[in-house]
Amino acid sequence: MREHDVIIVGGGLAGCRAALEITRTNPTLNVAVVAKTHPIRSHSVAAQGGIAATLKNVDRQDTWEAHAFDTVKGSDYLADQDAVAILTQEASDVIIDLEHMGVLFSRLPDGKIAQRAFGGHSHRRTCYAADKTGHAILHELVNNLRRYGVQVYDEWYVMQLVLSDNQAKGIVMYRIRDGLIEVVRAKAVMFATGGYGRAFNTTSNDYASTGDGLAMAALAGIPLEDMEFVQFHPTGLYPVGVLISEAVRGEGAYLVNSDGERFMASYAPSKMELAPRDITSRAIAREIAAGRGIHPDGSAGGPFIHLDVRHLGEQKIMSRIPFAWEESHRLTGIDAVHQPIPVRPTIHYSMGGIATNTDGQVQTSATGLVDGFFAAGEAACVSVHGANRLGSNSLLECVVYGKRTGAAIAQFVQNRKLPEIDEQRYIKAAKAQIQSLLDRSGTMRMYPLRQALQDCMSQYCGVFRTESVMQQGWENLQQLQQQYQQIYLDDKGKLWNSEIVEAFELRSLLVVSQIILASALKRQESRGAHFREDYPQRNDDRWLHHTFAYYSPQGIDLQYVPVNLTMFTPQERKY
Ligand SMILES: Cc1cc2nc3c(=O)[nH]c(=O)nc-3n(C[C@H](O)[C@H](O)[C@H](O)COP(=O)(O)OP(=O)(O)OC[C@H]3O[C@@H](n4cnc5c(N)ncnc54)[C@H](O)[C@@H]3O)c2cc1C
Repeated sequence: MREHDVIIVGGGLAGCRAALEITRTNPTLNVAVVAKTHPIRSHSVAAQGGIAATLKNVDRQDTWEAHAFDTVKGSDYLADQDAVAILTQEASDVIIDLEHMGVLFSRLPDGKIAQRAFGGHSHRRTCYAADKTGHAILHELVNNLRRYGVQVYDEWYVMQLVLSDNQAKGIVMYRIRDGLIEVVRAKAVMFATGGYGRAFNTTSNDYASTGDGLAMAALAGIPLEDMEFVQFHPTGLYPVGVLISEAVRGEGAYLVNSDGERFMASYAPSKMELAPRDITSRAIAREIAAGRGIHPDGSAGGPFIHLDVRHLGEQKIMSRIPFAWEESHRLTGIDAVHQPIPVRPTIHYSMGGIATNTDGQVQTSATGLVDGFFAAGEAACVSVHGANRLGSNSLLECVVYGKRTGAAIAQFVQNRKLPEIDEQRYIKAAKAQIQSLLDRSGTMRMYPLRQALQDCMSQYCGVFRTESVMQQGWENLQQLQQQYQQIYLDDKGKLWNSEIVEAFELRSLLVVSQIILASALKRQESRGAHFREDYPQRNDDRWLHHTFAYYSPQGIDLQYVPVNLTMFTPQERKY
């Protein structure tokens, strides 16, 4: 059996940052990172607009408290304020640390790190590397993994968390190349497996964002927190859904409807295009529903609105947001220097996730913890984003909480022994699971089933939600879950059998989708990204609580946990 002091699942920003912190703290520890992609292909690499921190390089009067307030207000007061205070207080140090590791940030003329405006932030505090920030950071972190001797298992799919007696003891993983199954035991296990954007049919996320870590935790009986809060990014490129970064609006782009109006004046007059994402996405959806969307031929009543950057001029477009120009041009043939870009909301980010405390240790309830199990990044919910995340706070969360979790793990594993695992039992079970997939003689193919699931979530659990519509979605999901038992794999081989991986990913998407819908159905209020047309108001008396969802094949049990309100009293949220 393979053994490591620490096994981290996920090679994105959160997983890599944690691995580095562990080996920097204690170079004698044996740390490994497993990823189903190459780490450099993790979704973090696609992050564009930037990472927030009060460096004060542009706005000298900025403070971490202002950043904390913006984050809490942006979260519609559902974020845990102790976690937000840590996030914003530690932000500047982690950026400087990244820079020392070699990350090439864009610069001001005086040589300091440049900072731009971002939605919902009251000051210009988003640091960036043009509009390829994730690329710049992840490449340096991965280079550093090698320098610090972290072992990397790339293109291994983790199938199961080994958890018994409330202790995480290891994982079961499957080598995609040849189907080899291995059990790894470790003194601590960390999940940094990213989001689940692929549960919806239009998303900015990569193909690997299938919520595997969330599903594995849920299947092991661990609660998922606040899963009803799914972020729609306002500007997905029409029709593909690929992201056009918020940096584009940060640099001054306009959102315009078919009447040529900057319609955000009616929804968020003081922030305009830089209102938070939940508000901007709803505004766009309302404009489209009211017939002020645009058709590809330019006429009114169509499915998108325009993101217009022409007034910024070619020089600024090409130096600050070159990737947005390139994506629009490559995928739709639009030259953004001369033409407006067609956009509409697209699924982007998971505010919810595996519940953790501020050391990244996984929770079983408001006070209970799982021994030896940690999580950070988009897969976790520490909760710094509450009901709605502000742009450029996610990369920050990955780095701040990746680092903190790494430090906590380095402490935790000291003087601990490797756990006992019955390796053969897990290998036998994993083999049987795969064999049963291969042996199925069903008639259902995977692609249409996944498509049906994505259509179901998009149709029944979108920007605007109501009880009756979500109830239909729930019934639909139960049928899809049944149909999953009937799937049929064409490829019966062991070498590069991507269908086996897809079957596991589809299982993850089904589990996660059910948890999202169950949590959304129960929350009878509108808060942040969760907008109920049948309950359009926020209701602090009843719902200023986190949802903890416990999955079992028999059903989903929902419990509610108080929010930590140490700094700011909830107020009406206006922009
Ligand atoms: C297009 C786009 C642009 C964005 N821009 C910004 C931005 O400008 N600023 C910002 O703050 N945020 C941005 N975000 C959000 C941010 O990039 C992500 O939330 C963050 O990078 C997530 O990092 P992570 O480390 O948690 O997970 P990821 O980077 O998603 O990595 C997940 C890792 O887990 C591995 N994995 C998953 N399941 C398994 C399994 N079963 N077995 C083995 N390995 C597994 C994957 O291979 C991968 O290595 C953007 C997101 C997108 C989609």
